[in-house]
Amino acid sequence: MNIQVSKPPLSIRLCGPRGFCAGVDRAIQIVVLALKAYGAPVYVRHEIVHNRYVVEGLEAKGAVFVEELNEIPEEHRAQPVVFSAHGVPKSVPEDAESRNLFYLDATCPLVSKVHKQAMRHQRLGRHVILIGHAGHPEVIGTMGQLPEGTVSLIDTIADAEAYQPIDPDNLGYVTQTTLSVDDTAGVIAKLQERFPNLTAPSADSICYATTNRQEAVKQAAPGCDLFIVVGAPNSSNSKRLVEVALRAGATRSLLVQRAAEIAWDEVGPIRTLGISAGASAPEVIVDEIIEAFRERFDATVELAITAEENEHFLVNRELRNVELTREDMAWVNG
Ligand code: SF4
Repeated sequence: MNIQVSKPPLSIRLCGPRGFCAGVDRAIQIVVLALKAYGAPVYVRHEIVHNRYVVEGLEAKGAVFVEELNEIPEEHRAQPVVFSAHGVPKSVPEDAESRNLFYLDATCPLVSKVHKQAMRHQRLGRHVILIGHAGHPEVIGTMGQLPEGTVSLIDTIADAEAYQPIDPDNLGYVTQTTLSVDDTAGVIAKLQERFPNLTAPSADSICYATTNRQEAVKQAAPGCDLFIVVGAPNSSNSKRLVEVALRAGATRSLLVQRAAEIAWDEVGPIRTLGISAGASAPEVIVDEIIEAFRERFDATVELAITAEENEHFLVNRELRNVELTREDMAWVNG
């Protein structure tokens, strides 16, 4: 006897924009193009973007990830080394030059813009406040644009309350690009209340991709029994999306790197599922996760789009003549 078990219905709200931003797309393209132009190995300092799938995919093509430049063997010094999208302290390109290394900087142009704004504050004699998370590579990179003692890191409202500057009337701030829009507004408000002459950067430091992904999640999360954010545990913008989903009203929210990680016995009897992806999470993983839900549920997918994105950043000049085909990026874009 053939018993047909019907699957429970599930409505999936798929957020847009989600996943790769222009800065991540560019950084991955730089490694792919460098491999085409110069052959393997291409060294990459730090994870090019915070995503294991991306890192392993590039390793399979011939990229070698290192944390510091002194890990590059003498015999490979003519091969390029790529700096990650998060940006690097000034000391890193200086170190590369002193070692005669050929480097390609994949720092996102929007991170570079924050570097410039921080340097501008400092040039105009202001002490720089960087709002961000200690230890994140972007924070290390931004602090490393400035001479020691000219920048202070503030993460939370409690930090803003406790902060005691030498000259409270001569302060300027910038922020990490991937922070929570709402939390950061609270930290800035506290700093402005305490230091009314605090100078803002000329443009928002939190980038368009962070803002758009958080807004899409905020709109889609109310009423979701579960909200899945595709992303890595070391991806700042992905972790923020989990928090945003919970605050906006999702009953539960999970950060998931691959479908195989989902503990199905803990998913429970859900009827509405939200899905988004951090800026470093490939679309092929989003597809994989939707497919895994389709296997277990009678799922219908509804797009929850709150903005259109058309940003595109050019790769480094040295790589602009190298052809990039759709197939070169199909392993991440599907
Ligand atoms: S999240 Fe924003 S700052 Fe970071 S790489 Fe993407 S566009 Fe650039």
